[in-house]
Amino acid sequence: MFLDLDRFKIINDTLGHAMGDRLLQAVTQRLESCLRKGDTLSRFGGDEFTLLLPSIHGQEDASQIARKLIHTLKAPFKLGEHEVFVGVSIGIAIYPEAGNSMDQLIQNADIAMYHVKARGKDSYRFFSESMSIDSTHRLQLERDLRLALARDELRVFYQPQVCVHTNRIMGLEALVRWQHPERGLLYPRDFLGLAEETKLIGQLSEQVLDKACRDVGHWIRSGHQSLRLAVNLSPIEVEHPRFVETLMERVNSNRFPPGNLEIEITENVIMNDLEQISQKLRELADMNVRIAIDDFGTGYSSLNYLHRLPIHTLKVDQSFVNAIRSGLDDACIVNAIVAMAHGLKLDIVAEGVETSKQLEYLRTLGCHQVQGFYYGAAQPAAEISKLLAQPKIEMVVSG
Ligand code: C2E
Ligand code: MG
Ligand code: MG
Repeated sequence: MFLDLDRFKIINDTLGHAMGDRLLQAVTQRLESCLRKGDTLSRFGGDEFTLLLPSIHGQEDASQIARKLIHTLKAPFKLGEHEVFVGVSIGIAIYPEAGNSMDQLIQNADIAMYHVKARGKDSYRFFSESMSIDSTHRLQLERDLRLALARDELRVFYQPQVCVHTNRIMGLEALVRWQHPERGLLYPRDFLGLAEETKLIGQLSEQVLDKACRDVGHWIRSGHQSLRLAVNLSPIEVEHPRFVETLMERVNSNRFPPGNLEIEITENVIMNDLEQISQKLRELADMNVRIAIDDFGTGYSSLNYLHRLPIHTLKVDQSFVNAIRSGLDDACIVNAIVAMAHGLKLDIVAEGVETSKQLEYLRTLGCHQVQGFYYGAAQPAAEISKLLAQPKIEMVVSG
């Protein structure tokens, strides 16, 4: 197993290295309490550990240990008067499927760990061959991505968020695309993980924000005063100590009205570091920036934070909207989320609406805003300009 602590760097930077060392010792003690005779835990460097488990019998054993390790770090650590939380991301490589030598096993466990990091952390994954194919293409793709940033190959597409009563466009979600010179138009799933791992996400995000603020700012100034711009942010960006400053620098230098901006974050980002994130969200809310919870209901969530944080919008994940098909039973989660949002006086946007049946169902529930292929996929700015020129959006695909 390859273990990498989540949030250690932030704690180390803010509380100092002496505290960081104490934290590492405390973490090690807890990890060791989960081990058996013959298991070997070693520090690999920084906040990384390797764990050699010579006597497991297959995946289920390994999963159980990984879950135990994750669980044991859940309780806060006391460092002087500070209480801190760390998580751990674990990659697992099993002999002989994932490698014959120690080096190979460590390397593959490390690759698997990266896949955990890219998907919200504090979890574990097994190495699989497709990950290693990824890693041989990775260097090439990484080089391409650096070039893409330099050559301005990123595009921002916008998906309308539409009011179900008036068919008017209330907001636009900015979704990044990459116009690759050879491979054509690439979607976030093809390159976002890599951008996060290689820390290029900051630059990517800056370019997306600049373009989106310019486009949507232009539409706002030309008469659509209350048009909202929704942008997605990666966990890595939000966790950066200077996140609020960096975001507002982009927004202000494009003279974009903060009240028209909505940031989309996932529940995992909040739960990863409740204390730090609440502080940041409050600062943003004080500047009138709106906060939306993306993919609501799919994450590691606690309903407890909802009324304690300045959250404005819940986005119902498309998997729940997708369940509105055969009858009332399937859709009960949507009912519950909408009811809860109403109770908490939060706005709600349903994602992934594809059919008129889904639309009708959501309308009856009192869900006022939707986005999805029913009204149209994400499109380039030129297309959106045309849509905005019409009083009401016309359906591009009908269900
Ligand atoms: P998301 O924020 O949940 O975005 C919704 C995704 O669902 C988009 O995929 C969108 O094109 C797709 N979608 C919209 N309507 C429908 C529908 O009716 N049916 C179906 N099946 N799908 C629909 P996309 O553009 O590939 O983006 C995927 C994810 O990538 C986004 O999920 C978001 O988390 C992330 N992302 C996109 N752009 C950015 C960005 O600029 N920065 C960051 N950090 N993340 C981004
Ligand atoms: Mg989103
Ligand atoms: Mg979503």
